[in-house]
Amino acid sequence: MPSIVYSNVAQAGAQRKVRIDLPGREYEILIGVGILNDAGRFIAQRLGAGLCGVVSDENVAGHHLKTLEASLRAEGRFKGSVVLRPGEATKRFGELERLSESLLEMGLERGDLVVAFGGGVIGDLAAFAASILRRGVRYVQIPTSLLAQDDSSVGGKTGINTRQGKNLIGTFHQPSLVIADIDVLKTLPEREMRAGYAEVAKYGLIGDAEFFAWLEANWSGVFAHEPDVLMKAVETSVRAKAALVIADEKEAGQRGLLNLGHTFGHALEAATGYSDRLLHGEGVSIGVVLAFELSERLGLCERGSARRVADHLSGVGLPTLISDISGPPLDAEELIRLMAQDKKVRQGRMTFVLVRGIGKAFLTQAVDIEIVRSLLLEKCGEGLEN
Ligand code: NAD
Repeated sequence: MPSIVYSNVAQAGAQRKVRIDLPGREYEILIGVGILNDAGRFIAQRLGAGLCGVVSDENVAGHHLKTLEASLRAEGRFKGSVVLRPGEATKRFGELERLSESLLEMGLERGDLVVAFGGGVIGDLAAFAASILRRGVRYVQIPTSLLAQDDSSVGGKTGINTRQGKNLIGTFHQPSLVIADIDVLKTLPEREMRAGYAEVAKYGLIGDAEFFAWLEANWSGVFAHEPDVLMKAVETSVRAKAALVIADEKEAGQRGLLNLGHTFGHALEAATGYSDRLLHGEGVSIGVVLAFELSERLGLCERGSARRVADHLSGVGLPTLISDISGPPLDAEELIRLMAQDKKVRQGRMTFVLVRGIGKAFLTQAVDIEIVRSLLLEKCGEGLEN
């Protein structure tokens, strides 16, 4: 098994940069150790004038808001903070309205900045608010969960959930800067760390078999918060995402590869009511295994790949079976109905991300839904037999 050894020990202040070169909307992603302390300076150096209205949630604020506020104050950039309730339920219309009005009441002007300081929930909601506030203000992502650092803070997708499904209302609005401090992950609960890891593994599965093999050998370093391993995991993920975002900002094609596991995953999240029963990354974990199993059934992918993926993810402690989800069993027909609500449905046909092997994902609409139905019927039934 190949193992890439990182020889430079990442020290406090160490930093990597990834650039998103979208014409007119270029920005940098700074990944580093302890760089939250420098957030004010980075913003002042790169983004010109403008005060910062910080949006966070209670968990993140409790651990890290003082550090961020002090850093912004030191540069004379602090305007105020809004702290919301944590959790997926915050990504909804009512909270968007409350947040937008709080930012207006704070006195945030057109040239000012919203700072999204939290996981993907705060990132998506605050970015959405920034995109509509005074017809659009700039914003900075300071992601604090692994999922937000390796995925959701990059690429400019904003959104909220509705009864009809996840992220069905939103905008594309690129951030002006992303600052990912891997040190803040030390306070992230282990279950959330694992959920974020599912998206890291996803990048290997989409297009980088060597990275997946590296993860198989090095994953424990991610959870031990070894700076070199974490930096490499986050940087490789961000680079993979950056390449797809640059090639296809509005998801007309290739960016859709990032949805590997998500068509199943979103349906599972909706079926469990976006609750504690299943975190987003856990849905992705089960979803990628289903995508590999479906690919094997369709004869697209060598048998055994799904097993290898499931073994890795379950070894990390992630759920990989629908029957791993706690609570009442899920209904296959309901999952199919929810999948049909997905944004990726075009002219009534569902788009799937399938694989020809590890690191060989592709998009297709040519999937017989009866094969998907029989797979889900079997998988939903698995828990009942035990
Ligand atoms: P989250 O924002 O709910 O964060 C997970 C939990 O961890 C929360 O309770 C939060 O308070 C807590 N937390 C975050 N950082 C912490 C820290 N450093 N210390 C202690 N606690 C911390 O969820 P998430 O998993 O980060 O993001 C999931 C969301 O991201 C979903 O809504 C999903 O749709 C979205 N997403 C968006 C994109 C995109 O491209 N925009 C991509 C992937 C996922």
